Amino acid sequence: MCVLAQAVMNTLTDPALFAPLSTEAARLDALRRLDLLDTPPSEAFDRITRMAAHLFDLPIAAVSLTDSDRQWFKSKYGIEHDSIPRFKAPCGMVADSNGMLIVSDLLAHGHLCDSGLAAAGIRFYAGAPLTTSDGHTLGAMCVLGTEPRQVTPAESQALRDMATMVMAQIELQHALGRVDPISRLPNRNQFISDFTDIELAEPAGELRLAALVSLATPQQLSDAQRVMGSGYVDEMVRDAVPQLRLAGAGKIYHVATTQFAFMAPRGAALETFRLQMQSWLDAHASYGQARFLTTTTIGIAPFTVGETEGLDLLRNMHSAAHDALAERRVRVFSAEHDAILQRRFWLVSAFGAALSSPGQLHLVFQPKVSMTGGACVGVEALLRWTHPEQGDISPGEFIPLIEATSLARATTEWVLDAALRQMAAWRDAGLTLQVAVNVSAVNLEEPDFCGRVLALLEQHGLAPSCLALELTESALMRNAKVAQATLERLAHAGVQLAIDDFGTGYSSLAYLQSLPANVVKIDQSFIRNLGQDERRRALVQTMIKLSHDLGHKVVAEGVETVEVETFLRAAGCDEVQGYLYARPLGAEALVEWLAGRAAN
Ligand code: C2E
Ligand code: MG
Ligand code: MG
Repeated sequence: MCVLAQAVMNTLTDPALFAPLSTEAARLDALRRLDLLDTPPSEAFDRITRMAAHLFDLPIAAVSLTDSDRQWFKSKYGIEHDSIPRFKAPCGMVADSNGMLIVSDLLAHGHLCDSGLAAAGIRFYAGAPLTTSDGHTLGAMCVLGTEPRQVTPAESQALRDMATMVMAQIELQHALGRVDPISRLPNRNQFISDFTDIELAEPAGELRLAALVSLATPQQLSDAQRVMGSGYVDEMVRDAVPQLRLAGAGKIYHVATTQFAFMAPRGAALETFRLQMQSWLDAHASYGQARFLTTTTIGIAPFTVGETEGLDLLRNMHSAAHDALAERRVRVFSAEHDAILQRRFWLVSAFGAALSSPGQLHLVFQPKVSMTGGACVGVEALLRWTHPEQGDISPGEFIPLIEATSLARATTEWVLDAALRQMAAWRDAGLTLQVAVNVSAVNLEEPDFCGRVLALLEQHGLAPSCLALELTESALMRNAKVAQATLERLAHAGVQLAIDDFGTGYSSLAYLQSLPANVVKIDQSFIRNLGQDERRRALVQTMIKLSHDLGHKVVAEGVETVEVETFLRAAGCDEVQGYLYARPLGAEALVEWLAGRAAN
């Protein structure tokens, strides 16, 4: 056993030396906040400990932190243990008394003579307090020797200086991760840590408010950085800090590049706080050089002490500040709106998983029927998603979300592959049909889209004319030039192209005329309620005539009644699709449906 460890077995436990409990609780709190206990050794501290041992020419030195029941060595020289019991350690006395402790000869000090330190051969101890900038003593910078020894004033000062160096190192390391270098305000880490303290200090269940000021949108931030460089954004932040101090009393946190958060005072009422934020926004948000280029918004989020996580609170405030963009104002977080956003986010990530896990996705096929003769001329492949826990999820809900992400490429690839595989199987069984697949706007911007479609057709041994691609007007208009080039290549190869949901977009007729599409599908919103509505009927008649004049075949979607069918036939519509004939069907059900029609 090492000298010190033996010595402390029966050292000093003088209750008079202990600090009052409340001071001790604050001291321990200060120690814990620094997140130092049980961290790995660090050369920055070991260097100082070695220096202390050499300076005093002694075998033992340590940076010793006083935890509730132990002395833990952040740095040690000549000691094997990582920690020893607190109440047997002289460093604990330094922490309790807040002062320097020098024991020149243990044997000459009444109550210390009996201690285990002396028995273990320790005769000399000197410890200088490790005190934080706000006055809490965390432990001691200490040196120990096996001979009695005097300490000169210069040595005593050197030990104090080394204790100060250790504390400077500790506080600097701590501050580095918690203060923003530009605004000099506490950062997001500090926000989370202070938030945890609120949770501990305030009564659970109390309702509090927090606000987040967002100086600019991500797009504005990116534009400013591109045009002016990041120095401009730093300047914007520095300009904002004095203004922010007028927004709310108390600590302001710099939680993201151009976002700041703070708590409303305890007891603040929501409406009063909202109005206060609004008047700050009106009066002070227009400052600095950036005021014409950026949109400042504020998000307020209520939270319940003991029930909310710091990161959730930040997310809620961020979400409200983002929603406030619509009005360039202050928005209070809405749980209902958040639920919608959460659902969207979930849908996209769960769909990503569905694409690669078998059994969740499948296709259904809805027949297209010729108006002349009533034969089924083709089918439209429609995607279906059955989530293992959530059940069936409508394409009307997930497709628009997927189309806005990079999953659009993999989704269309999956649908094309599954549809063509089914076509090949039907062809092998003697059934010839054309399949239409819906394509997303972004697919048309993929440089290899045409090549991939043709490769898939070849892979399944199908002629390009077996495939139709349905594109919405908005997809065609999104990047018209690129779309046009892709479509021309596909059309040239023999793939049929249809303009889906015709009439719902804002495409110019001149542009539609220049497209290599051969089919127009009139959107079901025009078809479903045709009834006796003369204006609607006139509109549909005009659409059919116009499309014919441009050389397109016309398909009407959403035909549900014989009355509508009769009208469409008279108007010259070429093909129809709708519940009147069949709902979208699974592969086997479609074959049965076809057989049923052939029998009639
Ligand atoms: P869409 O391409 O216009 O497909 C027609 C939609 O109308 C289908 O809805 C179909 O079930 C429905 N429908 C057909 N006949 C009738 C009818 O008589 N009455 C009524 N009320 N509805 C009818 P679904 O399957 O829910 O698909 C909705 C939309 O989701 C599709 O509209 C399409 O834009 C998109 N979608 C579906 N599958 C895919 C896919 O594989 N890829 C892409 N990109 N989009 C898809
Ligand atoms: Mg379609
Ligand atoms: Mg449609």
